[in-house]
Amino acid sequence: MFGDEKSFTAEQVVEMQMQMMAEFKESLVAFARELKAPDEETAAKNAEIKARKMATDARQAKDAVERQKRIEEAQANCTHRKENGKWNTSGILNADGLVTLICQRCFKVWRIKVSPDNARLIDAGDLELAEQAPPAQAAA
Ligand SMILES: [Zn+2]
Repeated sequence: MFGDEKSFTAEQVVEMQMQMMAEFKESLVAFARELKAPDEETAAKNAEIKARKMATDARQAKDAVERQKRIEEAQANCTHRKENGKWNTSGILNADGLVTLICQRCFKVWRIKVSPDNARLIDAGDLELAEQAPPAQAAA
C-alpha cells in the first residue's frame, strides 16, 4: 500500500491512521495481557501452592473435628467432681443474671440460674460460685 504511486485522499489517510492506531492499541492490550499472565513455571508453582493450602485446610478441619470429638468424649466421661466428691465447678455471674458454670477439669460450660441469695453473694464478690451441681446432674 505504501510506496506505490497512488495518491490518497485525506479521508483515506485518516482511515489508515485510524487503522494503524487500532492495531497499535490491540498490540498494547495483547502485551499487557502477556505481562499479567503467569508463565508456565509460575502457573505450576501457583497451582502447587493452592493444592498445598487446600490440603492443609482439609487437614486442619479434620483435626478440629477430631479435637472437638475428644473434648466432647472427655466431657461425657467426666464426673465433674473432685476427689472428695464435691462438684468441681466454678462460676461467674453474667450481666443477664445467669451464671456461667464451668467444670474445672473438662471445661464443660453451662449457663444456669442460681438462687437470688447466691447471685447477690457472687455479685458482691463475696463468693465465687463453686461446687454447684451442673444442670444435667442437678436432678440426679
Ligand atoms: Zn467435667
